[in-house]
Amino acid sequence: MTEEKNSCNHDCAHCSTKHDSCSNPSERERKFIAQMANIKHKIIVLSGKGGVGKSTVSVNIAFSLAMAGYRVGLMDVDFHGPSIPTMLGVKGARVESDNNAILPIEVAGVKVISVDFFLADSSDAVIWRGPMKQGAIQQFFEDVAWGELDFLIIDCPPGTGDEPLGLCQIVRGDKRAVVVTTPQEVAAADVRKSLDFCAKLSLPVIGIIENMSGFVCPHCATVTYIFKQGGGEKLAEQANVPFLGRIPIDPTVADCSDAGQPLVYKYPDSPTAKAFAEAVRPIGELLQGKD
Ligand code: ADP
Repeated sequence: MTEEKNSCNHDCAHCSTKHDSCSNPSERERKFIAQMANIKHKIIVLSGKGGVGKSTVSVNIAFSLAMAGYRVGLMDVDFHGPSIPTMLGVKGARVESDNNAILPIEVAGVKVISVDFFLADSSDAVIWRGPMKQGAIQQFFEDVAWGELDFLIIDCPPGTGDEPLGLCQIVRGDKRAVVVTTPQEVAAADVRKSLDFCAKLSLPVIGIIENMSGFVCPHCATVTYIFKQGGGEKLAEQANVPFLGRIPIDPTVADCSDAGQPLVYKYPDSPTAKAFAEAVRPIGELLQGKD
């Protein structure tokens, strides 16, 4: 594919370059462009390291937005360790197709896609190199019947590898990142790399969410900061990006994940659900042009 620019107004479906070949997009490219246009905001959820609660936050962001009345999709591109299906109680579900489109699995109105839905056996390991992951991400956009969405929340594996890079190259239109960290300095140091990644790829950061921030005693409501306090906020300040809020360590979060129901959906009035609702407010405001 030539990198030469021409006078055509048409962006390439695969990258942000204007190519000669784009003056006459193929049927497939046209479909891809239409699919992208139907999804208003693509939100990529990143973390510097694993285990900080990125998938948990992705799920609860998606459901908080859906419960606020937005049309929401959730794409799991953590190909080697897809945990979204477990967190939603749909592990092992199988997708069907209609009119050559893959129908996402719907959970309480949220449209979900994960590699898990395509595996012969959910315990099979996915052994893919970068180009295969890129191809799968492309197909998730091209072939899944997302319909019109206000938000597509995309859960990435930790770090700055093939998947977030592939997404940045593939996704067209409004795309932004939410970065998840825990309060400790080590996680914060790792997440600096995620912020650097966003800066290098010109990916706007909506903000940082500090997860596992203090343990709220279920008996006396005293907050104990098991890890250090304020790492996420300090990092946000240093990086000059918004701090979206703190999600406490709440045993109910883990119980809900294991039981396949997001906490914000099962216990919408809990203090933790309210913390999530507060953290996603700036995401919802993107639709009102308040960004
Ligand atoms: P990651 O996607 O960053 O690897 P996960 O979302 O899979 O992390 O979370 C790792 C574990 O921590 C899961 O068992 C999850 O239920 C638990 N967890 C995440 N956030 C919280 C929280 N705020 N309070 C309690 N447990 C949490």
